[in-house]
Amino acid sequence: MRALRLTAWKSEPELVEVPEPQPGPGQVVIRVGGAGACHSDLHLMYDFDAGALPWGPPFTLGHENAGWVHTLGPGVRGLEIGAPVAVYGPWGCGRCGRCRTGAENYCEDVAEAPVPGGGGGLGLDGGMAEYMLVDDARQLLPLPEGLDPVHAAPLTDAGLTPYHAIRRSWPKLDPRSTAVVVGVGGLGHVGVQILKATTAARVVAVDGRDSALDLALKAGADEVLRSGAGTAEEIRRMTAGQGADVVIDCVGSDATLALGAAATRVLGDLTIVGLGGGTLPVSFFGVPYEASVQTTYWGTRPELAEVLALGARGLVTPEFRTFALDDALAAYRALRTGGIDGRAVVVP
Ligand code: NAD
Ligand code: ZN
Ligand code: ZN
Repeated sequence: MRALRLTAWKSEPELVEVPEPQPGPGQVVIRVGGAGACHSDLHLMYDFDAGALPWGPPFTLGHENAGWVHTLGPGVRGLEIGAPVAVYGPWGCGRCGRCRTGAENYCEDVAEAPVPGGGGGLGLDGGMAEYMLVDDARQLLPLPEGLDPVHAAPLTDAGLTPYHAIRRSWPKLDPRSTAVVVGVGGLGHVGVQILKATTAARVVAVDGRDSALDLALKAGADEVLRSGAGTAEEIRRMTAGQGADVVIDCVGSDATLALGAAATRVLGDLTIVGLGGGTLPVSFFGVPYEASVQTTYWGTRPELAEVLALGARGLVTPEFRTFALDDALAAYRALRTGGIDGRAVVVP
């Protein structure tokens, strides 16, 4: 079968012929229905040096996947061939305290995981291929009625990651609150939809591209702002000088972190989701009092079930453009130059 493989750090992936995967005990092979092209893959191709992560190439890209059960390894029960499924992406050890609650994104025994801190498409072969080996049947969630694999794929990362970030801040998002999403790409536009679907907060979206701001409005944003020198001030003006209760930064550059610190309210949350490589100096007068700053990585498996339910009910509907496997590299290149609104989903 054909697969889009990253073969070295700081290089573009190649479409090559590889053997079809065979499932071992407890494993499942899915026929891939959709594999989203995440900006994190651009960091893998162009930004990260060898040694930056505990795993590395060669492996097949695509960590945002859904498809149909194709073959079952020995001992797998409870899955029917042909059933539509979403793949939960961060694969932990399955046995530590975190994994037992479904928070395999924060596995505490990564030496026992199939790959430390990664999964299919992140160190192991992912979904930019006709078939994908899923390490353990527990990582497959049945798709609820009304959701097909192409629509479900972006929910597994572009949906799950902002969902986790937003869900942990729910107590701060009441009808008087303001939430800001910085960076309205694949993750950010779904983040706007999730905020609208799960909270009554006012939602402000910030991006540097006009087409992204149009998408934010379509996704339900109450206000949109073009990012620039005066953006934090504008957010303070909109909030009677107080600032935003929650800022979800889907970029993570020096500029957006500074914006977040300047725009967050006292006692608010500034959550860094983007891997933009920026740093935020923390000092007594540098960040608002009792503002909490955190990074988040992906989400939990129970949260993915919740996101799939939001998708099936039509409350969260990622915008996407499909690409053939032959055009997957073109999709990444377009993503890199701001040519994708929403998500690019590769349909092998
Ligand atoms: P994307 O390319 O689809 O979207 C990024 C958006 O940010 C674009 O719309 C772009 O115009 C906008 N942007 C860039 N610089 C900006 C600035 N200075 N101000 C305002 N907007 C700006 O990317 P994506 O796939 O949504 O991923 C976003 C980030 O999140 C990436 O860094 C990715 O690696 C990271 N990510 C993190 C996790 C996690 O678990 N923490 C999961 C997935 C992706
Ligand atoms: Zn991702
Ligand atoms: Zn674990």
